Amino acid sequence: MLIDLHCHTAPRSACSALAPGRLLELAAARGLDGVCLTEHDCAWDPADLAALREAAPIAVFHAVELTTDLGHVLAFGLEPGDFSAEAAKVAEAAARRGALLFLAHPARDGLLRVTRETIEYFASVEALNGSDSRLQNIAASGLARGFRLPGIGGSDAHQEGEVGRAATRFAAAVRSDAELLEALRSGAYEAVLLE
Ligand SMILES: [Zn+2]
Ligand SMILES: [Zn+2]
Repeated sequence: MLIDLHCHTAPRSACSALAPGRLLELAAARGLDGVCLTEHDCAWDPADLAALREAAPIAVFHAVELTTDLGHVLAFGLEPGDFSAEAAKVAEAAARRGALLFLAHPARDGLLRVTRETIEYFASVEALNGSDSRLQNIAASGLARGFRLPGIGGSDAHQEGEVGRAATRFAAAVRSDAELLEALRSGAYEAVLLE
């Protein structure tokens, strides 16, 4: 099952020009089985998310991309009350809830600011980011090899042309946010580029 684990939509991500419905249409047309909404520092309202899922042609998952002192962090399984700009606080909440944190686009623009202690906050990194360069993705994929879980992949789409450039291929079907978290925890997945 092919899921794009990194997508931004308007208006919840201010930098995105992509309407949620359009994201889903394009992702379906480009062969994805699902997308995960990862707005910047912002959770979807549960009623809005339910309405979007109701009309969606593919599966819709929900996570968040937090802007932290250690860079951008893709967090799966956190609650909005856990969101923080301090990675240490996010990591504490993740440990308490069983959530998983992945360092997003770790080779982009000097964002890799972790130390030998703080790198332990992360299950792994985003190994393939559809908005990064080939060399950045090679560096990120190399970094992912040092973690307990494989690196994930996502488009980081903010506009139409970027949808579906990268994704994560899961060995088993994933039907809910809880199952997505379990699938990630299992390690039975790989990041893929889909140019
Ligand atoms: Zn980011
Ligand atoms: Zn992003």
